[in-house]
Amino acid sequence: MIDQYGRTIEYLRISVTDRCNLRCVYCMPEEGIEQLPHEQILTFDEIERVCRISTELGISKIKLTGGEPLVRKGLPDLLGKIKRIPGIEQVTLTTNGILLKNQLAELMRQGLDAVNISIDTLDETCYHTVTRCGELNQALEGLQAALEYPNLRVKLNCVPTNQSEEEYIRMAEYAKEHPVEVRFIEMMPIGMGKACQGKSRDELLELLEKAFGNAEPYEKHLGNGPAEYVSFSGFQGRIGFISAVSHKFCDSCNRIRLTAEGYLKLCLQYESGIDLRKLLRSGATDEEVKEAMRQAIWKKPACHNFSDERRDEEVGQKKEHRAMYGIGG
Ligand code: SAM
Ligand code: SF4
Repeated sequence: MIDQYGRTIEYLRISVTDRCNLRCVYCMPEEGIEQLPHEQILTFDEIERVCRISTELGISKIKLTGGEPLVRKGLPDLLGKIKRIPGIEQVTLTTNGILLKNQLAELMRQGLDAVNISIDTLDETCYHTVTRCGELNQALEGLQAALEYPNLRVKLNCVPTNQSEEEYIRMAEYAKEHPVEVRFIEMMPIGMGKACQGKSRDELLELLEKAFGNAEPYEKHLGNGPAEYVSFSGFQGRIGFISAVSHKFCDSCNRIRLTAEGYLKLCLQYESGIDLRKLLRSGATDEEVKEAMRQAIWKKPACHNFSDERRDEEVGQKKEHRAMYGIGG
């Protein structure tokens, strides 16, 4: 459907859990995490129902995320159920890759279209520091397994924070050696990210151009997101930048988000949205749920304003209190 600003909304990101097997410094606190009780998390049937209803509003692309989506038992079954809904064209996954190797065959059987794997560095020690507990080789095994399926689109996501320049170059080199898009995601001031240092697209591009020569803009659309791609001579894959803060793309935002507890979020920065779980569990009909979703989507905020220091009352919007692992990124 079209929102009040004329944007076509066709992409729904669903966080299936707030739990994770890693503790990335910019996403999750090390300890003291209050996990949602199971009964507060949407069941697979509820998620499937929301997906089915949302197709009637024009949603055709679904991303499963989290927390770590693969820690939720039975995720491939959910993926298959969503994939079989008439009107759903693509179901994709964002994962840290740790559990991917073991689940990939089943995910593929159920119709996985593409996977984004988050690996912030290819240096084992640094990976362990960023994730606080992760084993790089497990994530790489997941990535390797994904690359063995020629029909699966694979992207590698890296959030630049305190990695060294060599590590960014090494990360980009992965796209030289493999047919994979390597994307640098700018740190967003959400949750733990507020206290973390990031690196801008311009800084990274300068660094990469020094190492690999001039970058050529790559205009072809790769996937459903806002990444801007460039190509370097001799590379098999492209390098992407998702720069929500320094290069805002709200004018073309096509997405909405469903949190693990069933809150339909319209913009990453703001809390505005509706409590779909309450509605689903109150006996609302599909038509009523659809109408509530339609009204909420219509009011999707025009843009985020991460640099706006004003208080909520001055802005007239409540800022998001959830951390990224509770939203789905
Ligand atoms: N656990 C999965 C993963 O890491 O891919 C899925 C959930 S994670 C929240 C989704 C994406 O959000 C990851 O690529 C992660 O690096 C990114 N992310 C988390 N916190 C962020 C922040 N503050 N700014 C930018 N990206 C962030
Ligand atoms: Fe977990 Fe992904 Fe957050 Fe890292 S970024 S802590 S893997 S949810």
